[in-house]
Amino acid sequence: MARATRKEYEGQSALTDVMFNSIGDGAVVTDEYGRITAINQSARKIIGVSEKEAIGAWFPKLFRAYDDLGRQIPLIERPITRAFVAGQIITSRIHYRAKDGSMVPISTTTSPIMLNEQPIGCIAIIRDITKEYEIDEMKSNFISLASHQLRTPLSSIKTYSHMLLDGFMGPLTKQQDKALKTIISATNRMNETISTLLNISRIESGSIAVSKKPISITQIIEEVISEHQLAATDKNIVCSVKCPDRSVKVISDSVILKEVIGNLISNAIKYTPPSGIIKVSVSLKNERIAVIKVSDTGMGIPKESRDSVFSKFFRADNVIKQETSGIGLGLYMVKGLVKELGGDVWFESQEGNGSDFYISLPLDNSGSRRTTKPKLVKK
Ligand code: ADP
Repeated sequence: MARATRKEYEGQSALTDVMFNSIGDGAVVTDEYGRITAINQSARKIIGVSEKEAIGAWFPKLFRAYDDLGRQIPLIERPITRAFVAGQIITSRIHYRAKDGSMVPISTTTSPIMLNEQPIGCIAIIRDITKEYEIDEMKSNFISLASHQLRTPLSSIKTYSHMLLDGFMGPLTKQQDKALKTIISATNRMNETISTLLNISRIESGSIAVSKKPISITQIIEEVISEHQLAATDKNIVCSVKCPDRSVKVISDSVILKEVIGNLISNAIKYTPPSGIIKVSVSLKNERIAVIKVSDTGMGIPKESRDSVFSKFFRADNVIKQETSGIGLGLYMVKGLVKELGGDVWFESQEGNGSDFYISLPLDNSGSRRTTKPKLVKK
């Protein structure tokens, strides 16, 4: 009887091994220290190691992880560490460096093995997504090329529309004036969309050029507000600005910063009903950081959507029906751009009661150090 049980057990164990090795995706099991205790054939093939090399190896060392831009992912941010620390299933897209030095794009789901609420190991399911990655890259290149091509004719449309509106080609009737304003506002929207697409493809490919220097934050905000004045006036929305004195400078890239602030102001106008109020203000924190706040009295963001607001293509349920223009890429881009500027972006909002978006940026402290706090000047 005992013999039969053992045979049965051995048979069962061999079957489990065969099944484990036959899984099409890579599967790696580790103990509580992250040492590999089992690894199937697909996982070994992905990074080109033998079972002998893998068993007993420390997972983070054998599976070296990199982000999309080829930067090594710090141990603390690796899915396996996060799975252990949080005791939760972590899904992410990363790259592993194979034994021959090549980078393999991977989609991974790392799950802690829990016993009495304690992680005693983890299981990582690893899928080689080289094909999907290549298609993604082709898509990004296509979007970048198409956006560039659309920009040139659009700028001609804009220039000639402005010339017509300014009376360069003779006086306009009221109806023509109205029609031209509609054309200009539509080209502006199209231009914004093209900029967003181009910026996203640059952020994602790591090719965005950032040229940081000390710039007056007040001047940038004023310029952006004046660019959006027409759209605000159209909805009878008042935009007010409260900034420190003009000598306050941040270390930033003016083109990128304008894009970021412009996006927040454009959203504030878009998602605020007529006769609302938009306030832009700047405050200083620890003499090292400037915080720009864009607040509106608009539709607000539903509680259940909060975690998704900066995700690609996200649009909250409360805006979709009322405001059809929008593709849900603006804030995703803002997040990426602010990161490039060395800052952060976040928001506070209550559905139906408006939203406050914040951006923090490093202050320029290279000039004379302040001895007194700057006064806030109401514009
Ligand atoms: P889009 O405006 O094109 O939809 P964004 O990425 O700029 O895309 O914004 C994503 C979503 O976040 C919006 O669709 C909207 O649901 C919400 N949102 C952003 N800004 C605001 C705001 N100021 N007020 C209310 N909702 C906002």
